[in-house]
Amino acid sequence: MKIGIIGYGNLGRGVEIAVNAAPDMELVAVFTRRDPSTVSIISKDVPVVNINEVADWKDKIDVMVLCGGSATDLPTQTPEYAKLFNVIDSFDTHARIPEHFANVDKAAKESDHVGLISCGWDPGLFSLNRVYANAILPDGKDYTFWGKGVSQGHSDAVRRIEGVKNAKQYTIPVEAALEAVRNGENPELTTRDKHTREVFVVAKEGADKARIEKEIKEMPNYFDEYNTTVHFIDEDEFNKNHSGMAHGGFVFRSGRTGVNKENNHIIEYSLKLDSNPEFTTSVLVAYARAVKRMYDEGQRGCKTVLDVPPAYLSEKSGEELRAHLL
Ligand code: NDP
Repeated sequence: MKIGIIGYGNLGRGVEIAVNAAPDMELVAVFTRRDPSTVSIISKDVPVVNINEVADWKDKIDVMVLCGGSATDLPTQTPEYAKLFNVIDSFDTHARIPEHFANVDKAAKESDHVGLISCGWDPGLFSLNRVYANAILPDGKDYTFWGKGVSQGHSDAVRRIEGVKNAKQYTIPVEAALEAVRNGENPELTTRDKHTREVFVVAKEGADKARIEKEIKEMPNYFDEYNTTVHFIDEDEFNKNHSGMAHGGFVFRSGRTGVNKENNHIIEYSLKLDSNPEFTTSVLVAYARAVKRMYDEGQRGCKTVLDVPPAYLSEKSGEELRAHLL
């Protein structure tokens, strides 16, 4: 299976690592909007190509993995490159998924391709678990908690405050809320009840730390609805203790069955990830395998993880899966 990568940031690098580890896949090229000579990749034998030349690779790639950012890259890149290739992305702006789906569906159907969107862990594996659990326990409640982990978007928002040199934001689930859900108490939880936020800031010299802290805590949409702790640290401590990209989270469904709804059941799915991008891209690469299989079967248009049979993710045969993993 011949794989291409568009965009070489954290996810681009993660796809490269996962493809190199897959026995049935080969990375054929990495495409970038930057000058290719400035982009250094791990595999020295794989070409880095300017995105303007991507059409030349039309018949040389089975699945193109799109690794741009969700905010501004993927809404245009995924429909555009679905005209040339089977594509897969990790688009994670939940509220805009229906619109993104429609755009990719149109492009993929018109050009006879498959485009799988919003693949990763949330959206992605968490979405799958929500759908399974809702179908199995229709009378119940959903809970999703994130963390402890780094939120790239919130870290970026803090870095934009005047006087901030560097910053990292951690989202942390509230332990008491997790326990109440696990105990089957079916609690009503507000945003503030579910997560706290912790921010580590390196301030510029002479910056007004009290003002920075106030601006962070009162930032609408990002921090104002949460209990937030702000720590000011020096650059050495930042580089030593806060350069990782760990993340994770929990998806719960708590539901009742029985004539009098007397029995409660709890489904809990959790992830603890040392590297958010390397895990996300491990999911993307498994689903890239499914994209090729669906294309070979004659399927066309936009898909999500909800449309993919689990066996299509594995490089093992149906026979092997039934013998060892069923
Ligand atoms: P990055 O910011 O690392 O990379 C995004 C793009 O920026 C790259 O494709 C690259 O494009 C460009 N870029 C990267 N480095 C540089 C640089 N040094 N100079 C200039 N441009 C650069 O984002 P991530 O890879 O961390 O994440 C991508 C998206 O993945 C996120 O926006 C997020 O929405 C999504 N995501 C989804 C998850 C899920 O569970 N569904 C989980 C985690 C992330 P180019 O090479 O063309 O310049």
